[in-house]
Amino acid sequence: KVPPTINNEPTKTFSNTQESAKDWDLLRASLLKFNNAALEIPLVINGRRVYANDEGSTRTTTKHVNPSNHKQILANITQANGQDIKDAIETSKIAKKKWYSLPFYDRAAVFLKAADLISTKYRYDMLAACMLGQGKNVYQAEIDCIAELCDFFRFNVKYASELYSQQPTNGTKGIWNTVEYRPLEGFVYAVSPFNFTAIAANLVGAPALMGNTVLWKPSQYAALSNYLLYTVLEEAGLPNGVINFIPGDPEFITNELIKDPHFNALHYTGSTQIFKSLYSKIQNKLVDGTYRDYPRIVGETGGKNFHLVHNSANLPNAIFNTIRGAFEYQGQKCSATSRLYLPESKSTEFLNDMVGTLSEEDSKFAPKNIAASAISGGDLQGFTGPVIHEGSFNKLAKVIDEAKNDPDLEIIYGGTYDKTDGYFIHPTIIKCKDPNHKFLKTEFFGPILTVYEYPDERFVDMCKTIDETGNYGLTGAIFAKDRSAIQVANDILRYSAGNFYINDKCTAAVVAQQWFGGARMSGTNDKAGSGNILSRFVSMRNTKENF
Ligand code: GLU
Repeated sequence: KVPPTINNEPTKTFSNTQESAKDWDLLRASLLKFNNAALEIPLVINGRRVYANDEGSTRTTTKHVNPSNHKQILANITQANGQDIKDAIETSKIAKKKWYSLPFYDRAAVFLKAADLISTKYRYDMLAACMLGQGKNVYQAEIDCIAELCDFFRFNVKYASELYSQQPTNGTKGIWNTVEYRPLEGFVYAVSPFNFTAIAANLVGAPALMGNTVLWKPSQYAALSNYLLYTVLEEAGLPNGVINFIPGDPEFITNELIKDPHFNALHYTGSTQIFKSLYSKIQNKLVDGTYRDYPRIVGETGGKNFHLVHNSANLPNAIFNTIRGAFEYQGQKCSATSRLYLPESKSTEFLNDMVGTLSEEDSKFAPKNIAASAISGGDLQGFTGPVIHEGSFNKLAKVIDEAKNDPDLEIIYGGTYDKTDGYFIHPTIIKCKDPNHKFLKTEFFGPILTVYEYPDERFVDMCKTIDETGNYGLTGAIFAKDRSAIQVANDILRYSAGNFYINDKCTAAVVAQQWFGGARMSGTNDKAGSGNILSRFVSMRNTKENF
């Protein structure tokens, strides 16, 4: 069988026009549904729902609050206990045999069907869950939980069938060589982040498609959309136990899972700090002899991503892309632009125009409860929402306060915050005098952009400094017309970004078009949205037969 033709899923525009009126009505109905529900989110182990309030249960729950209105509880999430983890591991072993014995196209059909369900029947529920639970505007929700999510499921099928078709040569007559793309012998542990539901889909979907079973710890800050995703996979025909949904305390779940000898892979997206600690915990267990196999560790973590502007750049294009790269989804993307390097000859014009655009449209850029205004039929679009939780708010507010008191730093836009109702940080631009200042090295994961101005004639040195600043290597962009400047940046910044953009913002990689991931402390660079990542979840067996 050949997989169906696959194209990137188009997004709906949700413009405020007559044509979009129906989309808004449907979205509003879904927003209202979740807004009033206070759902109970269970664990799902072997297809069985387990709730904290089941009779005799001693499990606890954690609250999923709306980050735009933290008094509103969207859901109570049941937390897995030790026995739940044991049960999940046992059932995943049993489910694995049946799942892998299915022909590939039966496994693929589950993900193809789930993508179709998400782009049609569940589209508005998915958008509403991401807007309320993760504080996205409708555009950011569309590109994440609809387009990118469907693309991961569908393109993984295409890439897997290409991988499976690669076979060794036969050499001399009378010899038949074949390769079997076995799943890993043990289970995969997927740890997904709050910021992209699509990433969660790929963290569980990629290994499962290759015949593995997956134990999935979703982020408690994305539980609404992640649980919906799980139920859609079930409706699409996912057999029980192939993916077990086990929200709970991250450290506890990790410790329980990685001590099991069947733990075989970590598929992770999240902070660098946690990834480093998981990496070393797993290595220690390996050295202790816990496993029979070398666990695969696949992770995508943080970044301190740059926009480098050359004096030949088209300034309006660079400004437009910097606003989007730095502030879309409140800068809460691993790929977000967080350091901007400007040539002195253009810096004043650039910053005046950028701050001018932001200030003129201040009502658009001032953070607000976007879902609430969509429900009430008010401002339908909205650019800036809340940051995800109080911890993040407090950290970012501290960064802004620090900037106010540091003579090397100057806040030229924003610099305000307010958590009376939601976790609102105003998009903020900070000028910095020292290229080695920690503000140009530290990932903030919020709507804060640090700017450094360099003498035009030191462009080459600027490239070198960017490369040497900090330890990340995720994304970056050069804005220039001059081809030789592009060439210089391309060479010097070879390892500074796993995704390098020329005259475009350093965010918003599209599945199958920009294979996504970075090296250095940004991750193992196995490239989500490519076939590369799938090969991490197979263990090949070569058979030679003589006739
Ligand atoms: N793939 C996303 C992008 O290119 C970012 C993913 C992330 O935040 O981890 O913007």
